Amino acid sequence: MITRDSFGRVLRNLRISVTDRCNLRCAYCMPEEEYVWLPRDEILHFEEIERLVDTFIRLGVDKVRLTGGEPLLRRDLPRLIRLLAAKPALRDLAMTSNGVLLAEQAAGLREAGLHRVTVSLDTLRPERFAQLARRDTHAQVLEGLAAVTRAGFADTKIDTVVMRGTNDDELADLIEYGKRVPAEVRFIEYMDVGGATRWSMDKVVSRQEMLERLARRYGRIEPIVEASTAPADRYRLPDGTVFGIIASTTAPFCADCDRSRLTADGLWYLCLYAQQGIDLRGPLRGGASDGELEALVTGRWDGRRDRGAEERLAHRDRTPLLQVATLKRDPHLEMHTRGG
Ligand code: SAM
Repeated sequence: MITRDSFGRVLRNLRISVTDRCNLRCAYCMPEEEYVWLPRDEILHFEEIERLVDTFIRLGVDKVRLTGGEPLLRRDLPRLIRLLAAKPALRDLAMTSNGVLLAEQAAGLREAGLHRVTVSLDTLRPERFAQLARRDTHAQVLEGLAAVTRAGFADTKIDTVVMRGTNDDELADLIEYGKRVPAEVRFIEYMDVGGATRWSMDKVVSRQEMLERLARRYGRIEPIVEASTAPADRYRLPDGTVFGIIASTTAPFCADCDRSRLTADGLWYLCLYAQQGIDLRGPLRGGASDGELEALVTGRWDGRRDRGAEERLAHRDRTPLLQVATLKRDPHLEMHTRGG
């Protein structure tokens, strides 16, 4: 089954936030001192997540990514992974983590059937990490990445949010580090999403600028042409090393977007920039049949017209998407609640 929206975009890729809690406080995502958390009794149980995943699979989803908050803070996560890994229709079951708890959990995640891991790592310098993430756990992240390789995972990625004046002098160092892990590094343009209340355009390093800087260091950079709805454009260095750039801010890719997001409490968002989510927990807990859940999902996807990042691009004098007071009124608007 293929489910398409009004622009022909296919429902294929579901990102599931399993918790809104995080053990880091990155400046581009959670810069405030205090947050409003989702009520615990509203967090979906694993069996509820599984039922929703089954619904999405019947409608064409074949890629699931677990995220958060920090997904490894969710107790007993391998049990959820086991439930999902048993579904042959899921050809990709991945997780995005900040890596802090990976050293202790990587082997168990692999054993439970997780296919791939992406680790967010913005700097190789411990002091810089402590400043940026407001926690002193840089060594744990590096140990976590080593544990991912030891556990036998392949196709590991490192995601780096590039911010001018913060870590934009580390592009080549991160690529060199990625070679050793081994992991493919993907540079993400700093995005003006909910939570990024300190965002400004002058802190964004564009894809163009990143490529120019890397070409000065490495020489000719060859774009890799591939048919894919993945957010990263990929490039090859003269020595064959591949890296990616996710240019969501300066060159958004809404036309190909096959992603949607489920929050830990069961709200479904069709765009990272969407202000309204669709409540799936209510119908699920209210006894909706499989057919009713499917109709709810297809009905909303059919009518999807979001082009959030492209609409943001059209704004002149861009400022942060949302103010702190708005985020406090509705924590679902936060990047750490909808999973990135
Ligand atoms: N805690 C996990 C982690 O750190 O990977 C998963 C959740 S985190 C919200 C998912 C991704 O969103 C991370 O790679 C993070 O760097 C990215 N992110 C958060 N805020 C961002 C922003 N303002 N611009 C670009 N990427 C952002």
